Amino acid sequence: MIASTCLSLLFTVTIPQLDLAQDTTRQVTIDREAGQYLGHPTTVLLKDGKTILCVYPKGHGKGELVLKKSEDGGKTWSDRLPTPTSWETSKETPHIFPVTDQYGVDRLVLFSSLYPIRMSVSEDNGNDWSELTPIGKYGGIVGMSDMIETGVGQYTAFFHDDGRFITKDGTNTGLFHVYAVDSVDGGLTWSAPRVVAHLPDVHLCEPGLIRSPDGSKYAMLLRENSRKKNSHISFSKDNGKSWSTPIEMPRSLTGDRHQAVYATDGRLFITFRDTDQESSTLGDWVAWVGTFEDLEQGNVGEYRVRLSDNHHAWDCAYPGVELLPDGTIFTATYGHWDEGEQPYIRGIHLNLEELDGMLALDSRFHCYVLGRAQDGGLPHLGCEKSCCTDARQSGRKEYPACLGIHDTKSGKLLLIEATPAIESQVALLHELTGEHDRARQPFDALLLTHAHIGHYAGLIHLGREVASTTAIPTYVTKRMGDFLSNNAPWSQLVALNQIDLQVLPETDRLATSFTPIEGLEVEAFKVPHRDEFSDTVAFKIHGPQQTVLFVPDIDRFEGHERLLDRLLEGVDIAYIDATFYDGRELPGRDMTKIPHPMMVDTMQHLSQYASEHDGAIRFIHLNHTNPAFSDPVIQHDIKNRGFRVAQQGERVGL
Ligand SMILES: [Zn+2]
Ligand SMILES: [Zn+2]
Ligand SMILES: [Zn+2]
Repeated sequence: MIASTCLSLLFTVTIPQLDLAQDTTRQVTIDREAGQYLGHPTTVLLKDGKTILCVYPKGHGKGELVLKKSEDGGKTWSDRLPTPTSWETSKETPHIFPVTDQYGVDRLVLFSSLYPIRMSVSEDNGNDWSELTPIGKYGGIVGMSDMIETGVGQYTAFFHDDGRFITKDGTNTGLFHVYAVDSVDGGLTWSAPRVVAHLPDVHLCEPGLIRSPDGSKYAMLLRENSRKKNSHISFSKDNGKSWSTPIEMPRSLTGDRHQAVYATDGRLFITFRDTDQESSTLGDWVAWVGTFEDLEQGNVGEYRVRLSDNHHAWDCAYPGVELLPDGTIFTATYGHWDEGEQPYIRGIHLNLEELDGMLALDSRFHCYVLGRAQDGGLPHLGCEKSCCTDARQSGRKEYPACLGIHDTKSGKLLLIEATPAIESQVALLHELTGEHDRARQPFDALLLTHAHIGHYAGLIHLGREVASTTAIPTYVTKRMGDFLSNNAPWSQLVALNQIDLQVLPETDRLATSFTPIEGLEVEAFKVPHRDEFSDTVAFKIHGPQQTVLFVPDIDRFEGHERLLDRLLEGVDIAYIDATFYDGRELPGRDMTKIPHPMMVDTMQHLSQYASEHDGAIRFIHLNHTNPAFSDPVIQHDIKNRGFRVAQQGERVGL
């Protein structure tokens, strides 16, 4: 992938996201105590491949450490086990690692930080532990957040500090440094700290380390605690001795406390707390699936998974993660899993093949969201409100509502709507599908809903002055076809055969169906809308496995309940007009005259449907002023009611 594309993907694209939050069959409660905060677990899988130890504090970081054991890969858990007296004095999140010394002796080491960093050692698989003892005259935060093996009996461990704990009487400098310490005796003694990552204008911390599959490199994933930028990444090619200057990762990897494991097929599963401010799962426990190469190249990755819904704005997810011998991934963390209750420790079992199947990655057709804004996009011409001034400042762009469909069998691409942002959206479709080098045929077929500028004005780019396409089959109603044929500049596209109009038959039935790409059946439904130049349709797209509905523009659902029922019949995912949230966007206007359903009304109408089909209704065509774009309280409410706001780049298998 070329560098310029990476940059744009860094900020604009989200990737397909699975949601396991409601899947209680995967969840195990490792520990829970009424009224008691349990936080920040750390895990280790013993060499027998089935015994897992889990240690966590009674409190937020600080607090007495609790130890539990599972002998069946995390399915069932022991009572709380005896621990050394000094574990009651732990001041920071515990971290446990397996080590082997130069003589082949296996041990477990457990760190607890602030000043000084202390360590307990077990030589009998965690049954007996030494007391916590300082490892040197230094301290830090979240020590040791990770550890790598650098040679026989040799280890490097990592932590960070902001000046308060690195020395005994430190003070806050407002600068974050990531430190490494080294051991040559199997982790029993540690060197003085050295700085491995620092940038003066951001707060990099809590490193998570990942070794490349060939062992030649390490990646260090870093939380960005000032929340000004995405999470960062740094690389080492010399076994952790020196590190590259940290750079930003894509939004899809932006979070806190990354912990990774390789699945049996070589893909990475990285779990963390989602801190991407634009994410629909902000503050929840999530995981990212991709490759080490994705990390190196700044790619967005393959998909993400929400593991659990956290009922607190941010407090969850310092995860432990282990790969079991049968390919199952076990991951554990703390969170506010029940509204109003103290957080507790939860484990989850999954494997990537199951997740691939749930995403229908094996399906032939992939449907992507290429834009979700109303016709004018965001920022919106002339808007001086914060919705658009903020976006201009940050570089945020929301394109008009548009879908792209990829036939993975033939490589064909179908575009639904030709918006004024057609160039960016088709480039995004090419990027997401890997279908490049298409010369004058950027896509193979086009569907248009109606003649409002956000839905067809992108056709100008198909003409002589730009792409000069050849006979792209363009599916339109009769009125829309007449409009294009009889009005410049569109008539030239028809005259020069740059688009090949495929006029949908007028029937007295509600819908008319056609096949724009072999294997894909589309139904067009007439819907009520402000029809000055053309009539308006909604599309229902049937793939071999799933069906997607696209209704970007409609006047109202009230009075058309039968149409709405008919539209939703047999649909798996419905992208529905969400221009306005509740009318607050248009102060002083008579809302009964505004020809779009309010999101609040649609959610009211479809509350039963959404409760039975969580995440099936996804809002699209949002006006720049719609608070669902950026208000986290409203986003949380939408999500809790079983609805979603469409995310650019999201994929549905058809
Ligand atoms: Zn529109
Ligand atoms: Zn605006
Ligand atoms: Zn319209």
